[in-house]
Amino acid sequence: MEIIKEVRVLEEKLKEIRSAGKTIGFTPTMGALHDGHLSLVSRSVEENDVSVCSIFVNPTQFNEKSDLDKYPKTLDADSAMLEKASVDFLFFPSPKEIYPNGESYEVDLPLDGMDEVLEGEFRPGHFKGVIQVVKRLLEITNPNHLYMGQKDFQQFSLIHAMITHFQMPTTLVVCPIKREPNGVAMSSRNVRLSKKGKLLASIIHWTLAESKKRLKNNTVKEVETWALENLTTEWCKVEYFKIVDGYTLKDIIDKKDHDYLVASLAVWIEDVRLIDNMTLKQ
Ligand code: AMP
Repeated sequence: MEIIKEVRVLEEKLKEIRSAGKTIGFTPTMGALHDGHLSLVSRSVEENDVSVCSIFVNPTQFNEKSDLDKYPKTLDADSAMLEKASVDFLFFPSPKEIYPNGESYEVDLPLDGMDEVLEGEFRPGHFKGVIQVVKRLLEITNPNHLYMGQKDFQQFSLIHAMITHFQMPTTLVVCPIKREPNGVAMSSRNVRLSKKGKLLASIIHWTLAESKKRLKNNTVKEVETWALENLTTEWCKVEYFKIVDGYTLKDIIDKKDHDYLVASLAVWIEDVRLIDNMTLKQ
Protein backbone atom coordinates (compact mmCIF):
# COMPACT_ATOMS: atom_id res chain seq x y z
CA MET A 1 0.00 0.00 0.00
CA GLU A 2 1.23 3.45 -0.89
CA ILE A 3 0.52 6.43 1.39
CA ILE A 4 -0.09 9.59 -0.62
CA LYS A 5 -0.46 13.08 0.83
CA GLU A 6 -0.54 15.20 -2.29
CA VAL A 7 -3.57 15.61 -4.55
CA ARG A 8 -1.40 15.96 -7.66
CA VAL A 9 0.45 12.69 -6.99
CA LEU A 10 -2.76 10.70 -6.43
CA GLU A 11 -4.39 12.21 -9.52
CA GLU A 12 -1.46 11.17 -11.69
CA LYS A 13 -1.38 7.60 -10.36
CA LEU A 14 -5.12 7.17 -10.84
CA LYS A 15 -5.01 8.64 -14.32
CA GLU A 16 -2.57 5.92 -15.38
CA ILE A 17 -4.71 3.23 -13.75
CA ARG A 18 -7.83 4.50 -15.51
CA SER A 19 -6.13 4.64 -18.89
CA ALA A 20 -5.04 1.02 -18.42
CA GLY A 21 -8.79 0.22 -18.27
CA LYS A 22 -8.78 -0.68 -14.58
CA THR A 23 -11.65 0.05 -12.20
CA ILE A 24 -11.26 2.18 -9.06
CA GLY A 25 -13.14 1.83 -5.76
CA PHE A 26 -13.02 4.66 -3.23
CA THR A 27 -13.87 4.73 0.49
CA PRO A 28 -13.73 8.12 2.25
CA THR A 29 -13.22 8.02 6.04
CA MET A 30 -12.12 10.23 8.92
CA GLY A 31 -9.86 7.51 10.34
CA ALA A 32 -9.91 5.83 13.77
CA LEU A 33 -10.88 2.80 11.72
CA HIS A 34 -12.94 -0.14 12.99
CA ASP A 35 -14.63 -3.18 11.45
CA GLY A 36 -17.44 -0.97 10.07
CA HIS A 37 -14.98 0.95 7.91
CA LEU A 38 -13.21 -2.29 7.00
CA SER A 39 -16.43 -3.82 5.67
CA LEU A 40 -16.60 -0.94 3.15
CA VAL A 41 -12.93 -1.22 2.24
CA SER A 42 -13.10 -5.03 1.83
CA ARG A 43 -16.07 -4.70 -0.49
CA SER A 44 -14.12 -2.16 -2.55
CA VAL A 45 -11.12 -4.51 -2.76
CA GLU A 46 -13.42 -7.35 -3.85
CA GLU A 47 -15.25 -5.35 -6.52
CA ASN A 48 -12.49 -3.19 -8.08
CA ASP A 49 -9.02 -3.56 -9.60
CA VAL A 50 -7.65 -0.75 -7.45
CA SER A 51 -8.90 0.54 -4.08
CA VAL A 52 -8.31 3.95 -2.53
CA CYS A 53 -9.19 4.83 1.06
CA SER A 54 -8.92 8.39 2.32
CA ILE A 55 -8.40 9.55 5.89
CA PHE A 56 -9.28 13.20 6.27
CA VAL A 57 -10.86 14.75 9.35
CA ASN A 58 -12.77 17.40 7.45
CA PRO A 59 -12.86 20.65 9.46
CA THR A 60 -15.81 22.11 7.50
CA GLN A 61 -18.28 19.45 8.68
CA PHE A 62 -17.70 20.01 12.41
CA ASN A 63 -19.97 22.64 13.88
CA GLU A 64 -18.13 22.54 17.20
CA LYS A 65 -14.39 23.05 17.32
CA SER A 66 -14.17 20.95 20.52
CA ASP A 67 -15.71 17.97 18.66
CA LEU A 68 -13.11 18.37 15.90
CA ASP A 69 -10.29 18.59 18.45
CA LYS A 70 -11.54 15.49 20.30
CA TYR A 71 -11.80 13.38 17.14
CA PRO A 72 -9.55 10.31 17.68
CA LYS A 73 -6.41 10.07 15.54
CA THR A 74 -4.82 6.63 15.11
CA LEU A 75 -2.93 6.79 11.82
CA ASP A 76 -0.42 3.96 12.49
CA ALA A 77 -3.10 1.46 13.47
CA ASP A 78 -5.32 2.64 10.58
CA SER A 79 -2.63 2.22 7.98
CA ALA A 80 -1.76 -1.29 9.29
CA MET A 81 -5.45 -2.27 8.99
CA LEU A 82 -5.73 -0.90 5.45
CA GLU A 83 -2.52 -2.62 4.37
CA LYS A 84 -3.87 -5.93 5.73
CA ALA A 85 -7.14 -5.34 3.86
CA SER A 86 -5.11 -5.04 0.59
CA VAL A 87 -5.92 -1.39 -0.07
CA ASP A 88 -3.68 0.04 -2.81
CA PHE A 89 -3.59 3.72 -1.85
CA LEU A 90 -4.14 5.47 1.45
CA PHE A 91 -4.82 9.12 0.71
CA PHE A 92 -3.96 11.23 3.75
CA PRO A 93 -4.09 14.89 2.69
CA SER A 94 -3.72 18.05 4.78
CA PRO A 95 -6.57 20.60 4.86
CA LYS A 96 -4.41 22.84 2.63
CA GLU A 97 -4.30 20.12 -0.06
CA ILE A 98 -8.07 19.70 0.02
CA TYR A 99 -8.89 23.40 0.33
CA PRO A 100 -6.07 25.26 -1.44
CA ASN A 101 -8.27 28.35 -1.80
CA GLY A 102 -9.60 28.35 1.76
CA GLU A 103 -12.50 26.49 3.32
CA SER A 104 -15.37 28.65 2.07
CA TYR A 105 -15.85 26.70 -1.19
CA GLU A 106 -19.56 25.82 -1.33
CA VAL A 107 -21.44 23.44 -3.59
CA ASP A 108 -24.62 24.71 -5.22
CA LEU A 109 -26.96 21.73 -4.94
CA PRO A 110 -30.78 21.86 -4.69
CA LEU A 111 -31.72 19.58 -1.79
CA ASP A 112 -35.35 20.52 -1.02
CA GLY A 113 -34.58 20.75 2.71
CA MET A 114 -33.07 17.23 2.92
CA ASP A 115 -30.01 18.71 4.63
CA GLU A 116 -32.04 20.65 7.21
CA VAL A 117 -33.94 17.82 8.93
CA LEU A 118 -32.74 15.05 11.32
CA GLU A 119 -28.97 15.57 11.78
CA GLY A 120 -29.18 18.85 9.84
CA GLU A 121 -31.52 20.36 12.42
CA PHE A 122 -29.05 19.75 15.25
CA ARG A 123 -25.79 20.21 13.34
CA PRO A 124 -26.34 23.32 11.19
CA GLY A 125 -23.95 23.48 8.25
CA HIS A 126 -22.71 19.92 8.83
CA PHE A 127 -23.96 18.56 5.51
CA LYS A 128 -22.67 21.56 3.54
CA GLY A 129 -19.23 20.48 4.80
CA VAL A 130 -19.86 16.81 3.99
CA ILE A 131 -21.05 17.58 0.46
CA GLN A 132 -18.14 19.97 -0.08
CA VAL A 133 -15.51 17.41 0.95
CA VAL A 134 -17.04 14.39 -0.81
CA LYS A 135 -17.42 16.39 -4.04
CA ARG A 136 -13.77 17.45 -3.84
CA LEU A 137 -12.62 13.88 -3.05
CA LEU A 138 -14.68 12.48 -5.94
CA GLU A 139 -13.18 15.03 -8.32
CA ILE A 140 -9.70 13.92 -7.23
CA THR A 141 -10.31 10.15 -7.29
CA ASN A 142 -13.04 9.93 -9.97
CA PRO A 143 -13.88 6.35 -8.91
CA ASN A 144 -16.15 3.80 -10.57
CA HIS A 145 -17.58 2.92 -7.15
CA LEU A 146 -17.96 4.97 -3.99
CA TYR A 147 -18.42 2.99 -0.74
CA MET A 148 -20.45 4.49 2.11
CA GLY A 149 -22.16 3.08 5.21
CA GLN A 150 -25.87 2.78 5.99
CA LYS A 151 -24.80 3.99 9.46
CA ASP A 152 -24.83 7.56 8.11
CA PHE A 153 -28.20 7.26 6.41
CA GLN A 154 -28.77 10.97 5.78
CA GLN A 155 -25.20 11.41 4.56
CA PHE A 156 -25.41 8.75 1.85
CA SER A 157 -28.88 10.00 0.85
CA LEU A 158 -27.45 13.48 0.23
CA ILE A 159 -24.39 12.15 -1.58
CA HIS A 160 -26.69 10.07 -3.78
CA ALA A 161 -28.62 13.27 -4.59
CA MET A 162 -25.34 15.04 -5.40
CA ILE A 163 -24.08 12.26 -7.71
CA THR A 164 -27.43 12.26 -9.52
CA HIS A 165 -27.61 16.08 -9.80
CA PHE A 166 -24.10 16.49 -11.21
CA GLN A 167 -24.41 13.29 -13.28
CA MET A 168 -21.13 12.05 -11.84
CA PRO A 169 -19.78 8.84 -13.42
CA THR A 170 -19.66 7.06 -10.04
CA THR A 171 -21.97 4.41 -8.58
CA LEU A 172 -22.73 4.69 -4.88
CA VAL A 173 -22.54 1.38 -2.99
CA VAL A 174 -24.19 1.45 0.46
CA CYS A 175 -22.94 -1.16 2.95
CA PRO A 176 -24.91 -2.46 5.98
CA ILE A 177 -24.27 -1.21 9.53
CA LYS A 178 -21.65 -3.25 11.42
CA ARG A 179 -22.62 -3.72 15.04
CA GLU A 180 -21.00 -4.89 18.27
CA PRO A 181 -22.39 -8.21 19.62
CA ASN A 182 -24.78 -6.23 21.88
CA GLY A 183 -26.17 -4.31 18.89
CA VAL A 184 -24.28 -1.03 19.35
CA ALA A 185 -23.37 0.40 15.93
CA MET A 186 -19.60 0.56 15.53
CA SER A 187 -18.33 4.15 15.55
CA SER A 188 -15.03 5.93 16.01
CA ARG A 189 -16.71 7.81 18.86
CA ASN A 190 -17.38 4.59 20.84
CA VAL A 191 -13.81 4.64 22.21
CA ARG A 192 -14.92 7.59 24.36
CA LEU A 193 -17.61 5.47 26.07
CA SER A 194 -16.86 3.63 29.32
CA LYS A 195 -17.54 -0.10 29.59
CA LYS A 196 -20.82 0.74 31.31
CA GLY A 197 -21.68 3.34 28.64
CA LYS A 198 -21.20 0.72 25.91
CA LEU A 199 -23.55 -1.64 27.76
CA LEU A 200 -26.17 1.07 28.27
CA ALA A 201 -25.96 2.04 24.58
CA SER A 202 -27.48 -1.34 23.62
CA ILE A 203 -30.90 0.27 24.31
CA ILE A 204 -30.50 2.10 20.98
CA HIS A 205 -30.54 -0.93 18.71
CA TRP A 206 -33.14 -2.66 20.89
CA THR A 207 -35.46 0.35 20.56
CA LEU A 208 -35.00 0.47 16.77
CA ALA A 209 -35.73 -3.25 16.41
CA GLU A 210 -38.77 -3.00 18.69
CA SER A 211 -40.02 0.05 16.71
CA LYS A 212 -39.92 -2.04 13.57
CA LYS A 213 -42.16 -4.66 15.23
CA ARG A 214 -44.51 -2.03 16.70
CA LEU A 215 -44.98 -0.22 13.40
CA LYS A 216 -47.00 -3.21 12.12
CA ASN A 217 -49.92 -2.40 14.48
CA ASN A 218 -49.32 1.25 15.38
CA THR A 219 -49.13 4.60 13.62
CA VAL A 220 -45.81 6.34 12.99
CA LYS A 221 -46.68 8.96 15.64
CA GLU A 222 -47.42 6.23 18.23
CA VAL A 223 -44.15 4.45 17.56
CA GLU A 224 -42.16 7.71 17.68
CA THR A 225 -43.74 8.63 21.04
CA TRP A 226 -43.06 5.16 22.48
CA ALA A 227 -39.43 5.15 21.25
CA LEU A 228 -38.72 8.62 22.66
CA GLU A 229 -40.05 7.58 26.07
CA ASN A 230 -38.22 4.27 25.99
CA LEU A 231 -34.87 5.88 25.17
CA THR A 232 -35.11 8.77 27.60
CA THR A 233 -33.44 7.98 30.95
CA GLU A 234 -31.18 9.87 33.32
CA TRP A 235 -28.12 8.49 31.46
CA CYS A 236 -29.47 8.82 27.90
CA LYS A 237 -30.60 12.14 26.42
CA VAL A 238 -32.46 11.91 23.13
CA GLU A 239 -31.84 14.62 20.55
CA TYR A 240 -34.36 13.19 18.10
CA PHE A 241 -36.07 9.97 17.11
CA LYS A 242 -37.94 10.24 13.81
CA ILE A 243 -39.48 7.93 11.29
CA VAL A 244 -39.19 9.50 7.84
CA ASP A 245 -39.67 8.69 4.18
CA GLY A 246 -36.39 7.05 3.12
CA TYR A 247 -36.28 8.85 -0.23
CA THR A 248 -37.24 12.41 0.73
CA LEU A 249 -36.47 12.36 4.51
CA LYS A 250 -39.83 14.08 5.02
CA ASP A 251 -42.30 13.41 7.85
CA ILE A 252 -44.94 10.71 7.48
CA ILE A 253 -48.64 11.46 7.73
CA ASP A 254 -49.94 8.02 6.76
CA LYS A 255 -47.52 5.10 6.54
CA LYS A 256 -49.66 3.49 3.81
CA ASP A 257 -48.55 6.24 1.42
CA HIS A 258 -44.85 5.32 1.75
CA ASP A 259 -42.98 2.21 0.63
CA TYR A 260 -39.61 3.10 2.23
CA LEU A 261 -39.54 4.11 5.90
CA VAL A 262 -36.44 4.71 8.02
CA ALA A 263 -36.19 5.34 11.77
CA SER A 264 -33.28 7.63 12.58
CA LEU A 265 -32.01 8.94 15.92
CA ALA A 266 -29.31 10.76 17.84
CA VAL A 267 -28.74 10.37 21.57
CA TRP A 268 -26.14 11.46 24.10
CA ILE A 269 -24.63 8.91 26.48
CA GLU A 270 -21.71 10.00 28.73
CA ASP A 271 -21.11 13.16 26.70
CA VAL A 272 -20.80 11.14 23.49
CA ARG A 273 -23.21 11.78 20.64
CA LEU A 274 -24.34 8.53 19.03
CA ILE A 275 -26.41 8.13 15.87
CA ASP A 276 -28.14 5.06 14.49
CA ASN A 277 -30.95 4.09 12.14
CA MET A 278 -32.96 1.17 10.85
CA THR A 279 -35.01 0.61 7.72
CA LEU A 280 -38.51 -0.22 8.98
CA LYS A 281 -40.11 -0.81 5.59
CA GLN A 282 -38.74 -1.18 2.07
P1 AMP B 1 -16.45 8.15 9.17
O1 AMP B 1 -15.01 7.82 9.31
O2 AMP B 1 -17.20 8.09 10.46
O3 AMP B 1 -16.70 9.42 8.38
O4 AMP B 1 -17.09 6.99 8.32
C1 AMP B 1 -16.60 6.66 7.03
C2 AMP B 1 -17.59 5.73 6.36
O5 AMP B 1 -17.72 4.54 7.14
C3 AMP B 1 -18.99 6.33 6.23
O6 AMP B 1 -19.52 6.02 4.95
C4 AMP B 1 -19.76 5.64 7.33
O7 AMP B 1 -21.14 5.52 7.08
C5 AMP B 1 -19.09 4.26 7.35
N1 AMP B 1 -19.29 3.63 8.65
C6 AMP B 1 -19.01 4.16 9.87
N2 AMP B 1 -19.40 3.30 10.85
C7 AMP B 1 -19.94 2.22 10.22
C8 AMP B 1 -20.53 1.00 10.68
N3 AMP B 1 -20.66 0.72 11.97
N4 AMP B 1 -20.96 0.11 9.75
C9 AMP B 1 -20.85 0.39 8.42
N5 AMP B 1 -20.30 1.52 7.92
C10 AMP B 1 -19.86 2.43 8.81
